[in-house]
Amino acid sequence: MIEHRAEEYIRLAMAAAETAAQRGNAPFGAIIVDPNGAVVATAYHRVKEMLDPSAHAEITAIRTLCQERRTTSLEGFRLYVNKEPCPMCCICMIEAKLAALYYGDSDEASVPCYIPAEEIARRARGHRLRVYGGILATETIRQREQLSRQYGL
Ligand SMILES: [Zn+2]
Repeated sequence: MIEHRAEEYIRLAMAAAETAAQRGNAPFGAIIVDPNGAVVATAYHRVKEMLDPSAHAEITAIRTLCQERRTTSLEGFRLYVNKEPCPMCCICMIEAKLAALYYGDSDEASVPCYIPAEEIARRARGHRLRVYGGILATETIRQREQLSRQYGL
């Protein structure tokens, strides 16, 4: 079951995506929510500004929160992102033992090696990541198109 605040959290991820675009990065944003529903991490895609191909929004959010809490386990936490994550980020979520992933639309063309998040989650051993896609998908697509035009991305 998709919990009722999913759309609210996706909108926060969309706000982070706008920050990414304003700073010349691809328009992706992610947030992490704790088991009580509190937003505990917000991150945006920083590949260009960090000159780091792994600085995706999801990885940046996980890295920041793990370092802050001095742990590698985010059991019970949930991640929200405006677009379906790439395989690198999905695997990082499984490594971090996140409980669930919620995303907006799926855009196969934006990922160099597309594997559906659900497929990666299904194949994971030892940890089950629940995956819910298509949340506010029409809006997440429209926002990225608009940001790409506005910032010439
Ligand atoms: Zn990624």
